[in-house]
Amino acid sequence: MNFKDLQLKAALLEGLEEMGFEEPTPIQQEAIPPALEGSDVVGQAQTGTGKTAAFGLPLLNQLDMDADYVQGLIITPTRELAIQVQEELYRLGKGLKARSFVVYGGSSIGKQIERLKRFKPQIVVGTPGRILDLMQRKVLKVNQLSVLILDEADEMLNMGFIDDMRAIIRQTPDSRQTLMFSATMSSSVKQLSEQFLHQPVQVKV
Ligand code: AMP
Repeated sequence: MNFKDLQLKAALLEGLEEMGFEEPTPIQQEAIPPALEGSDVVGQAQTGTGKTAAFGLPLLNQLDMDADYVQGLIITPTRELAIQVQEELYRLGKGLKARSFVVYGGSSIGKQIERLKRFKPQIVVGTPGRILDLMQRKVLKVNQLSVLILDEADEMLNMGFIDDMRAIIRQTPDSRQTLMFSATMSSSVKQLSEQFLHQPVQVKV
């Protein structure tokens, strides 16, 4: 399979070529088509399989570039992963001029608030506590969100983020699309999926 077989915008295909991605990885081949059609997706995949582009490309493809509100929210368990995901999204979305922004705890919230207000990102990537804090301060608004992504969901549960995750998800529109990735499918991950995803397509590599 070739990336051109996926119904992606030309600007994204050009970016993939520039990045040297020749063909989609197995998780990308399986997850991108249903995600582009608007289905919720649960993907079981480890880091290193190309999972970031598996959720990042469908998200980038459906961004309204004329709008300056948050359309995509990606929740990750750690600051390192949040940074890594935002960097990959930046590279993938360069051709579209997509604006993504990373937020995490342990760094000045004042500066993040200032930058967030100025930058008006279409995509926010971050750790649960800081995302919730910014939402409670009304700086981060997710009421017009179209895609919610839970990355490394099993890790987030292991780290005790369930209450923060629930509080965040409850403020997003019911009409959203939800994509969830996890290295393992424990019963608590399945429960999360049953609670917050609508008839998800299951993919596994
Ligand atoms: P991830 O699993 O998302 O952390 O991706 C692992 C690494 O593979 C990252 O450095 C990606 O940039 C790279 N990558 C993702 N998809 C592809 C692809 N289709 N072809 C080549 N490299 C890729």
